[in-house]
Amino acid sequence: MSLSSTIRYALQTAQLAPQTRWSTRRVERLAQRRLERLVRHAAEHSPYFHQKYAGVNLDRIRLTELPPTNKAELQARFDDWPTDRRLTRSGLEHFLADPSNLGRWYLDEYAVSHTSGSQGPPLVIVQSRRALSLLFSLMSARANTHAKPGIVEGWRRLRTPARVAVVAQHRGFYPSSAAFEFMAEITRPFTRVELFSSTDAELFHKLNDYQPNILVGYASVLEGLALASAELELRSLWQLANSSEQLTSRARERIEAAFHAPVLDHYGTGECLFLSDGCPTDGGAHVNADWAIVEVVDDDYQPVAPGELGRKVLVTNLANYAQPFVRYEVPDQVAWGAEPCRCGNHLPRIARIEGRSAEAFWIHDESGRLRVLPGVVFHSAIDALHGVRQWRAIQLEHDRVELQLEFLPTVENEFDAGAFVEGLYQAGLPRRVRVEVESVIGLQPDPQTGKYRRMVCLVSPPAASSLTGSAA
Ligand SMILES: [Zn+2]
Repeated sequence: MSLSSTIRYALQTAQLAPQTRWSTRRVERLAQRRLERLVRHAAEHSPYFHQKYAGVNLDRIRLTELPPTNKAELQARFDDWPTDRRLTRSGLEHFLADPSNLGRWYLDEYAVSHTSGSQGPPLVIVQSRRALSLLFSLMSARANTHAKPGIVEGWRRLRTPARVAVVAQHRGFYPSSAAFEFMAEITRPFTRVELFSSTDAELFHKLNDYQPNILVGYASVLEGLALASAELELRSLWQLANSSEQLTSRARERIEAAFHAPVLDHYGTGECLFLSDGCPTDGGAHVNADWAIVEVVDDDYQPVAPGELGRKVLVTNLANYAQPFVRYEVPDQVAWGAEPCRCGNHLPRIARIEGRSAEAFWIHDESGRLRVLPGVVFHSAIDALHGVRQWRAIQLEHDRVELQLEFLPTVENEFDAGAFVEGLYQAGLPRRVRVEVESVIGLQPDPQTGKYRRMVCLVSPPAASSLTGSAA
């Protein structure tokens, strides 16, 4: 990294911290200016957006007047979508087909990744060097529980770089892991970054040796480390960060108790990795609303009130000019915080992240009609069980669910399956759905993505005409 890019990175980071105390209106005005610039650029240089915004008045851009977009639509028009016309599906897929390209810039400018494909074919995503630099600057400036970013801290880090450990299931072209491949290059000389594999037999030894200040990993990986914390001696840990997966309250308690350090639950999507930074005091995550616009909406794209779970999220990434995501539909269920938090960051906070709407079952209710049962019914009940290491719920038939629980040693005998299933019924699971609880050993994450799939639906969704909406 050149001296000029080091200085640029340091200045950018220093600038991003004070904005967490700006008024909502001031942040919104800045985001609006960035939105106007992005939308005009997209309409001018992307054939897809040129067509999509044909009826939009580009002199007076209002977010809610822009038509939403989604993965299926962008997949279908992939080659018409990028504003950098050198980016094509075949060129990008060719690059992704070679594993030795991991950690290499495409066209000397873009980090290339693809979504996991758990919901349809994977979407190829490019992130410019500038967007990745923004991601790491935002993390240093706004997700730093250790020190206040500024000249003094920058100077201190030049002398003693912060040590970051990223523990992943395996390396791959998934958005967050692909980004971390470039972290060392972008944040040098302020940070030292090491990538570790969660399946490495020497992992504990290597972490003890490295003594990280910041430990980053999937929620399940961090929880696994917490359960083995007797073998870890991490004396310099400032904080941990969940880079993907849902962080349950049980996992948070376990991790914080084991390491005596806060866990930041960053919520992001592959399409906008810097969407938010975890709140260190009250859970949830603060949206970086100057660089990303989040709309929490119902099925008809109408905003939902703070405290209420939306059915999906519309994400606008204000930093990706090459491949614009504007009002892009993400099937996550989240809720805005209804109460202010205590950490001092005034940016809007997403208080609850309940995972994906796609993580749901189709079940018969008491009157025999098919309904969506959101995963949250299982998530909350199992969260309250403290002896569970990992779990998976599999819907085998419309009225039959198998629940696989992996217990911690010594607690299995105390588990009362009858009382637990009764709790599920009381939480909204119709009584006609039979739940078979199985105790299992060694539940494994999805080998493709390294993420745990907790809700597996083997029942095909019904035809649209027989639906009666959400059960919760
Ligand atoms: Zn906060």
